[in-house]
Amino acid sequence: MRIDLHAHSTASDGADTPSELVRQAREAGLDVLALTDHDTVSGLAEATVAAYEVGITLVPGAEISCNWRGISIHMLAYLFDPGHAEFARERDLLRGDRARRGRAIVERCRELGAPITWERVRQIAGDGAVGRPHIARALVEAGVVPTIQDAFSPDWIADNGRAYVEKYTLEPKRAIELIRAAGGVAVFAHPGARKRGRTVGPEAIAELAAAGMAGIEVDHPDHDEDTRKELRALAGELDLLVTGSSDYHGSVKPNQLGENTTDPAVYEEIVARASGLGPVIP
Ligand code: AMP
Ligand code: ZN
Ligand code: FE
Ligand code: FE
Repeated sequence: MRIDLHAHSTASDGADTPSELVRQAREAGLDVLALTDHDTVSGLAEATVAAYEVGITLVPGAEISCNWRGISIHMLAYLFDPGHAEFARERDLLRGDRARRGRAIVERCRELGAPITWERVRQIAGDGAVGRPHIARALVEAGVVPTIQDAFSPDWIADNGRAYVEKYTLEPKRAIELIRAAGGVAVFAHPGARKRGRTVGPEAIAELAAAGMAGIEVDHPDHDEDTRKELRALAGELDLLVTGSSDYHGSVKPNQLGENTTDPAVYEEIVARASGLGPVIP
């Protein structure tokens, strides 16, 4: 069983539509794929239809934008009930503020001399929850930077870069509480992704574990071998589940579907702990 528990579609900042994503996951030889768009489940219906068509198990999920004492972090939420009113309302707020903040980042970029427009960014994002990768694509298209990766530099839109603007986020303990209230399972996404910006220490992970977080993503493309070793040891100490994923975003990022995977026993445990939704099994 090959299980990839973190991937994005055009419902947020991925390049493939939910159905394209599901098809590619099947072609990549995966048995289970989690759809975890940023702050939204709007791709879930389309992905579900595709999962039945191609015969792959789909785990409904989302990646929730959080902030731990000034440090931006992401909380994966699996198998929660999308209809849970309070959690749904928070996702609406998170998505709504992404639009306000996207506009503000574009304005800063323009002040810094980049000839990009909000209209174009909105076009690139389509119906998806707007994120910095969409703005990065506009910056590349306008010839401001050669690659998306270069847009994520202190000169432009990296965390606390010249054109960076904060967005509304949830306090992670509140995110965990909402995910659990909706019957879901919370897993800390890429806790050691240092190249993206500041990361939290083991004390924070311990506090979140005590608050009901079920696991941490250890095998992630942004984690080097030492980071994985440290996180695996910490998960052992704190009795946390260990997951692995690609954090696939389509052609806009080098990550390949299935480049890291989750142990089937861990996957079964996540399913067993969830009471919101079950996986979509064709
Ligand atoms: P946002 O949610 O709008 O703040 O954008 C964050 C997203 O941008 C992350 O989920 C990644 O997909 C992407 N990202 C963050 N840092 C980098 C980076 N250094 N290089 C490429 N993509 C990045
Ligand atoms: Zn993303
Ligand atoms: Fe993330
Ligand atoms: Fe992600």
